Amino acid sequence: MKRFTEGLKKGSIMLVDTTLRDGEQTAGVVFSNREKLRIAKMLDNVGVHQIEAGVPVMGGDEKEAIRQIASYGLQASIMAWNRANVNDVRHSLECGVDAIAVSISTSDIHIKHKLRTSREWVLENMTKAVEYAKNEGVYVSVNAEDASRTDLDFLIQFTREAQAAGADRLRYCDTVGVLEPFRTYEEISRIIDATGMDVEMHTHNDFGMATANALAGMRAGARFIGVTVNGLGERAGNAALEEVAMALKFLYGMNLGVNTKDFLNLCEYVARASGRPLYPNKPIVGSNTFAHESGIHADGVLKYPETYEVFSPEEVGLQRQIIIGKHSGRKAVKMKFVEYGIALSDEEASDILEAVRSAAVELKRPLFDKELMYIYEDYLYDTKRPKKNNGFGEETV
Ligand code: MN
Repeated sequence: MKRFTEGLKKGSIMLVDTTLRDGEQTAGVVFSNREKLRIAKMLDNVGVHQIEAGVPVMGGDEKEAIRQIASYGLQASIMAWNRANVNDVRHSLECGVDAIAVSISTSDIHIKHKLRTSREWVLENMTKAVEYAKNEGVYVSVNAEDASRTDLDFLIQFTREAQAAGADRLRYCDTVGVLEPFRTYEEISRIIDATGMDVEMHTHNDFGMATANALAGMRAGARFIGVTVNGLGERAGNAALEEVAMALKFLYGMNLGVNTKDFLNLCEYVARASGRPLYPNKPIVGSNTFAHESGIHADGVLKYPETYEVFSPEEVGLQRQIIIGKHSGRKAVKMKFVEYGIALSDEEASDILEAVRSAAVELKRPLFDKELMYIYEDYLYDTKRPKKNNGFGEETV
């Protein structure tokens, strides 16, 4: 927990990863204990500040995995999730975690229809659980579930009472993903102005804005950002660790010391463990993010990568790919053949490009290296030219 303690001291922006809790709550996803331990270690190596490891009161394997993760002595703080009751918190403390999340609904819709109780009951139970945990000397986050549909005056009252009970931060949960960045900014500003409480953004992606909302909250003063690898999580998922971390680095110029080069490894591992493959256009780590096919883009990237890339693929463990297909240009074809040790003339490249385009349309996809070689062989045969010398700078006969 050294990294977390230092972050607290410095007042830096911190990443709270909940892949092992909210991520595993994705319908149909289960991690084995071995996978959980591996993911926790990978998250720690990447440099997240806090890992929400699970829900101890579930007992059995779940509790055992949390206990083991807490025993590793990682740089990240290990947090366990609890409902607002003393029994849940007791299970968490038995795991040896250094941080506790106490979660309770604050919106009237949840209080009335799910908990079937009153705001007073919510305040009272939150206070009891927080006071109990603080007496045991752990860090406490109070999670306002469904905060984004909560009456703001009540949310501020709830935050003040949490503060009075000794809570260290408020987790603002956009449980059903209904925030948009402008409202997020307004609301988080008001909560922080009114209470001075540390705030964590916990955003869901139901309208595709989880990352945007998390960053808007940060701009309004929230110091903690809740994330999951690949944006795993309930329904449409959470803000993605890799998106938030890269946005902080490249759009805000913030150095959180995150080891982004391991992102592809981490994201692929979690994709396999969760049975949710990375889709090709997944921001940051999708296979398409550094693949260029269109003639204009490929030409630009080959001349100067920054023309069409904000950061280099190596930054996240990927490699640039020039795809040869329907949208390719002559220059990309020439460059591709240089990779095979063949220097094409402009005329040859134009002829081959024509054949490439009709093959790509017929197949409805870009071409594999082998298919490009067949096209080249057919071309040589058709034009009955003598075979060229291989290699660079050789003249065509
Ligand atoms: Mn959630």
